[in-house]
Amino acid sequence: RQEQYLALRHKPSRTRDGCDIKLYINAGLLVDLPHVKESGADGIGLFRTELQFMIASQFPRTGEQYALYKAVLEAAGDRPVTFRTLDIGGDKVLPYMHQVEEENPAMGWRAIRLGLDRPGLMRSQLRALLQAAAGRELRVMFPMISASEEFDQAREVVEREITFLRRHGKPLPDLVKLGAMVEVPSLLFQLDEILQRTDFLSVGSNDLFQFLYAVDRGNARVAGRFDTLSPSVMRALKMIADKSNAAGVPVTLCGELASKPLEALALIGLGFRQLSMTPSAIGPVKAMLLEIEAAEITELVDHHLKPEADRPLRLALREFAAERG
Ligand code: PEP
Ligand code: MG
Repeated sequence: RQEQYLALRHKPSRTRDGCDIKLYINAGLLVDLPHVKESGADGIGLFRTELQFMIASQFPRTGEQYALYKAVLEAAGDRPVTFRTLDIGGDKVLPYMHQVEEENPAMGWRAIRLGLDRPGLMRSQLRALLQAAAGRELRVMFPMISASEEFDQAREVVEREITFLRRHGKPLPDLVKLGAMVEVPSLLFQLDEILQRTDFLSVGSNDLFQFLYAVDRGNARVAGRFDTLSPSVMRALKMIADKSNAAGVPVTLCGELASKPLEALALIGLGFRQLSMTPSAIGPVKAMLLEIEAAEITELVDHHLKPEADRPLRLALREFAAERG
């Protein structure tokens, strides 16, 4: 199997009916970088910048952040990299950072909320990112955006930082693209607003699932209670894919869903054309999509999302996959 996947590395990831699906990897540390080339991925769809902060014993300085981001961009070569600004707080605690006890940390002072309230931290990170990407394209997205105003505020911080660097005569990226993660359900009902503002969207299915069903993603007792391919999740994702595609805004899905071939199959059926996953999933997902027709799977998914559907989508997909080996 492993060898079979290796052989696929340089094959374009295209369905039988000619639909190109971009496959990216999720990464967060230097050790992940060789995976970009090894897997034959199209780039890094999610770079989790908080990992550097989580393994450090104090706040990494701007220079240390810069060094990591520069190494990441160099390893990716001309493939795109999407950096996510710090997603700390909640379950991602920094031992050296004073944090108040929270009763519901997943819904607490975390990610972009913390970033906007403590702009110093966010500015230091953005400065490092802007400088590391000097002379090329920089793609940055913000985690846990719950309302379009939060995106506006985050963009302002970026713009202020660009002005600052320009005034100091520092080299800047050729192009800066800003995106929002869609992982808080409130944003599902502000897609029109967010799509007018962003250069791209990225769906965090782990958190979106957690908040849609109110099931703690880390609590084994409840985490498996609902199917990730249930109509509620599928319809939410379809709305995101449809609206983004209609608006011409590129959308990627970067949660764990994309790492499982059956789930990835469903995502293609919903209209997603860019998936970001664990590096080891690239081979299996690519092997799957080379065997299918996007049109056929779209029809199957559509049919099973109708209220009168006679059986769960997961069963139908399993059967579909089994028929095709
Ligand atoms: C997600 O929520 O799906 C996601 C990609 O981000 P993380 O798993 O880091 O929260
Ligand atoms: Mg998340």
